[in-house]
Amino acid sequence: MASSDCIFCRIATGEIPAAKVLEDPYCVAFMDIGPLADGHVLLVPKTHAETVDQLSAEQAGAILRHLPALVSALRAATGCEGVNVLQNNGRVAHQLVMHVHFHIIPRRAGDEFHFNWPAKRYPPGRAEQLAEEIRRNLR
Ligand code: AMP
Ligand code: ZN
Repeated sequence: MASSDCIFCRIATGEIPAAKVLEDPYCVAFMDIGPLADGHVLLVPKTHAETVDQLSAEQAGAILRHLPALVSALRAATGCEGVNVLQNNGRVAHQLVMHVHFHIIPRRAGDEFHFNWPAKRYPPGRAEQLAEEIRRNLR
């Protein structure tokens, strides 16, 4: 289902232009219009869904099967030293376009893209408790 007020649905249908690098019946990959680095690509499903948990396993598989080839092509095309695959869900997680998308971002030593990565430690038993809670909710 395409949403007429969704920018990525409109790119998927070809209604608005994008520099596409890959397209199949299920997904499209195109150049990010506001790149964090040269070669920043977005991979999106053609079907509208806001967040990744709204995709079926089959839809997710149909999209993510393209990741290895895309990452490899980005490396070859840009000569980058590394690649981040980033996927934001919800405003709090910096999702601005509410149509599922995977950022594929070429990285170079000393580039301007930085993470705040505030790693912590679990108190004894907490990781196991959370693992159990997550297992109970897997469907
Ligand atoms: P996010 O913060 O994860 O929602 O990222 C949305 C991304 O979509 C940003 O990196 C934007 O630069 C990109 N974007 C928004 N509109 C367009 C567009 N028309 N064509 C290509 N990329 C876009
Ligand atoms: Zn959409």
